[in-house]
Amino acid sequence: MPLIDAHGRRHDYLRISVTDRCNLRCLYCMGDEGIEQLSHSDILSYEEILKVVTAGAELGISKIRITGGEPLIRKDLVSLIERIAAVPGIADLAMTTNGVLLPHYAAELKKAGLNRVNISLDTLKPDLYRKITRCGELKEVFKGIEAALEYELQPVKLNTVLMKGVNDSEVIDFLKLILEKPLHVRFIEYMPIGDHDRSYVDHYLPLSYVEETANNAGLTLSPLPLPGGAGPAESYTIPGGRGTIGLIHPISKHFCDSCNRLRLTAEGNLKACLYWQDESPVRPVLDNKKALQGLIREVLSGKPVEHQMAADGICGSVKPGSMRGMSKTGG
Ligand code: SAM
Ligand code: SF4
Repeated sequence: MPLIDAHGRRHDYLRISVTDRCNLRCLYCMGDEGIEQLSHSDILSYEEILKVVTAGAELGISKIRITGGEPLIRKDLVSLIERIAAVPGIADLAMTTNGVLLPHYAAELKKAGLNRVNISLDTLKPDLYRKITRCGELKEVFKGIEAALEYELQPVKLNTVLMKGVNDSEVIDFLKLILEKPLHVRFIEYMPIGDHDRSYVDHYLPLSYVEETANNAGLTLSPLPLPGGAGPAESYTIPGGRGTIGLIHPISKHFCDSCNRLRLTAEGNLKACLYWQDESPVRPVLDNKKALQGLIREVLSGKPVEHQMAADGICGSVKPGSMRGMSKTGG
């Protein structure tokens, strides 16, 4: 029986956070002091993660994304990739990374069976990059992007969180990146995840801003048809574009009605929705595959119809949203 929730949504996608730690501390993801880190024994081992992947794959999970925190700082991640890629039924294995360590690992990751990467990049200005990430060097990310292209971790997607007063003046520069390289730039709306309500209120911008800015600059965004299951991005290109532009609007046009995702946090809690607090620990049932599969179905059966992110912190919502920042949940 496929994984279908109470609202008729079929689930085939599991996002796995392999660590809550990171080599950067992005403003919208972590507080000033970073985060209180999990201890090593709290974090699922690779063997434990594989048990969840194997049980999920038998229920129809075919897509896996490895995320964090920064996945590439976890020791011997390549071996996990190799083992997940070998699980029967896993057809698509992707990773979200800040890209800084990709020059070291891209070749091995490709060989191990990683299909593609999303690299987070919110600005093309070195000073601003240092400010947003509180310590990062832009040139390191560009080396990571080059490595991803060289080793064909494709399509190479860039995740760009649009922030009013921070990077909104760079929309055209990001659009023009796809003229130079076969990149897929995806603008994402700032989400009120974790304890960042004030920052969200100050910096949220709907992605209609990207369309207006392109129009005002005489750049026509031409819609592209999306293959089935391609995810929540509306996809466009511009004349001469070698890649695509994606618009992901979790707030202004939420895509909950087509959500196909489950999440596994670094300490082993299953979450059916990125936003709501509900989560269930897998550790107690890891040695019993039937019980683990029962838990996956149970978590899915409680999946809410939608996230109500925009309501929370602005005008109140029916139940409190997650106070976990993205680095703790796995973006
Ligand atoms: N460290 C990796 C990275 O930065 O790509 C993976 C983890 S990070 C939490 C995953 C994604 O979540 C990144 O693309 C980041 O931009 C996004 N993200 C984090 N906090 C966010 C927020 N409040 N709103 C929207 N996207 C957010
Ligand atoms: Fe680290 Fe990614 Fe969060 Fe930035 S967005 S602090 S790179 S986990």
